[in-house]
Amino acid sequence: MTAPTIGVLAVQGDVREHVAALRAVGAQTRPVRTPDELDGLDGIVLPGGESTTISKLLTVFELEKPLRAALADGLPAYGSCAGMIMLASRILDTRPDACHLDALDITVRRNAFGRQVESFESDLEFAGITDRPEAAPMRGVFIRAPWVEEAGPGVTVLATVPAGATPEGRADGRIVAVAQGSVLATSFHPEVTGDLRVHEYFVEMVRH
Ligand code: GLN
Repeated sequence: MTAPTIGVLAVQGDVREHVAALRAVGAQTRPVRTPDELDGLDGIVLPGGESTTISKLLTVFELEKPLRAALADGLPAYGSCAGMIMLASRILDTRPDACHLDALDITVRRNAFGRQVESFESDLEFAGITDRPEAAPMRGVFIRAPWVEEAGPGVTVLATVPAGATPEGRADGRIVAVAQGSVLATSFHPEVTGDLRVHEYFVEMVRH
């Protein structure tokens, strides 16, 4: 595969930042707002934003069913923050009518870090990236982020909150990045830091 074509779900959220990061790592990109824009994609990114809004718009744009089917069919996907919520199989603290796509066997808690640490940053270890020789830690930017409350047996944990990153260590060890098959998700937003390694990692997943 030369340059893979990665769709970016473009109904709401930080679409532009993901498009820029994907292009910077050599992928072609396509904004996805209609079902036929899913045709022929090698992968798709679900940006951060607001998951209940994204959920509503997926229904309005008649994208929920075809996107769910494409994911069930093995379309590689990467979701950051609200995108992680959308990819999950079980969501805590959401609206009862919000839809999600059941592509990752995880239970996600929305806005999990609570009022006092709604948003924060921390350096992280990311398995397969920061454990390479001489690799720098990764800056995790968390914005009203979810965490993974529970991960199924087929899910690989790639990053957790380091000790002391939040007041009184309240979020120590919480899972914030996972992969299952060709689906990747992070609670944080690598698309806003200029660190392209997560997008590179995803494009590598797509190529293989
Ligand atoms: N709190 C948002 C939600 O529940 C996610 C925040 C984000 O994507 N930065 O959808």
